[in-house]
Amino acid sequence: MATPMYSSKLSGSKFKNWIKAGLGVLYTKEGIEPFVCDEIEQFQQKCLNDICINNGLPAGTTCSGCCTENVIVCPTNRICNAKRGKCSFHRNSATQYLPSGCPNKICHNFKNEIQNAHRFCGPSYKNTDASQWCSNAWEVAKCFMPPDGYKDVTNAAKTDFNGINSVIINFKAFQSKVKDDLSKKFNIFEQGREVGRAVRHSPQLEMEDTDLHKYFTDLQNLLSDPTYLSANTDAQNAKTKLLQLQNDTLIIGKDDIRNVLDDVAKAVQDKIRTEIDEQKKEAEKTKLELISITNASVKRIESQEILSISQLDKALDSAINDLEKHTKASLKKVQSEADIAKKQIGECADKGVSKLNVEADTGVKQIEISADKGVSKLKVEADTGVKQIEISADKGVSKLKVEADTGVKQIEKQIEISADKGVSKLKVEAEAGATKISAKADEALKKIEESTTANKEDKYNKLKEGKCIFV
Ligand SMILES: [Zn+2]
Ligand SMILES: [Zn+2]
Repeated sequence: MATPMYSSKLSGSKFKNWIKAGLGVLYTKEGIEPFVCDEIEQFQQKCLNDICINNGLPAGTTCSGCCTENVIVCPTNRICNAKRGKCSFHRNSATQYLPSGCPNKICHNFKNEIQNAHRFCGPSYKNTDASQWCSNAWEVAKCFMPPDGYKDVTNAAKTDFNGINSVIINFKAFQSKVKDDLSKKFNIFEQGREVGRAVRHSPQLEMEDTDLHKYFTDLQNLLSDPTYLSANTDAQNAKTKLLQLQNDTLIIGKDDIRNVLDDVAKAVQDKIRTEIDEQKKEAEKTKLELISITNASVKRIESQEILSISQLDKALDSAINDLEKHTKASLKKVQSEADIAKKQIGECADKGVSKLNVEADTGVKQIEISADKGVSKLKVEADTGVKQIEISADKGVSKLKVEADTGVKQIEKQIEISADKGVSKLKVEAEAGATKISAKADEALKKIEESTTANKEDKYNKLKEGKCIFV
């Protein structure tokens, strides 16, 4: 039996849980953002100082002339996509690797510093613009983010939690400011990453109470690391917001919900772009539709700069209503298709029964005719003599009996065949109808429920565990 449709499963409280978890992730991101910015800026300055000292360059020497391709050797694992000798990364004469290095002796050295600072030896060079390494520390930070999806992000504010959190995980130097062991698999930042993933990949924008509770605990643990964050104002402000959010006393910024939805929408759009499986693609499209309906409903309610939890509830109730209306319309469509299939089965059944009736009627008529013929033949024989009558009568009776028997047998057989054919035809039609209904329902369900298995971070994690090649 297929699982129930989306609309029957949509629960207001689980949807609100999902929004709360999304807000929790957003506030946690804001809590660690200045921490990450500071560390990366310090790293950028240290790199430049060291490079100048080590190469006898005047202090403050920079370079903005080398692009990323100029400092990455061709081929480089996971970067170069060389097909038939043509590399899509080092694609033209301006984007070739410079074997002699940066003319200002900065960029190739900077690249080596970044490479050595990466925990898994695999900076995301596709994300970054090396010509800005000296001028925008965030371009350096992007080397420590997942390999896709951050190319156009130019500052911390525009970067999502997953990107910022990844910098802490992948930039080795963060260990000096974090008590938890960043090299172990289930450290507090890895657990934080799981929370973000759970929000982005919830197929129905829902979250169970127990999960929400666990995720809030994970985010609070992340913000409570004693070495640095537990005494950091931004981290502690974020922690307070998480507590208020849990207690339903938080005042929510006007754009917060939109930010949560936009982040998820972006992840979904990436997934749609890269997903090959059509069914999974459809499921993601449905999710995107749900996000945009929610966004529109929340926007309608939002008139002030801030929202109380009760206003948020009102906005979300309205969103749920809209979602239900929307899913009811799709449900109706599936229902009407099921009705058509049912009707078709009914018609087939009716046809089968009337065919049986016709066959039976014909059979009965044949018996009647046979009997009449036998009787009239008997009458003729009787006229020719008593003995003959007797003999004929015997013959006639037995003949009549044989004919009647044959007739009855024939009718029985015909009825049996017809019935079998009718029943098996009915069975086939019914099964086809049922399969059709079930397939329609499953298809609709799959659209909503198919979850994303090979997501971006999974790929990233695989990459991380994969071979590490220095260049
Ligand atoms: Zn350069
Ligand atoms: Zn190349």
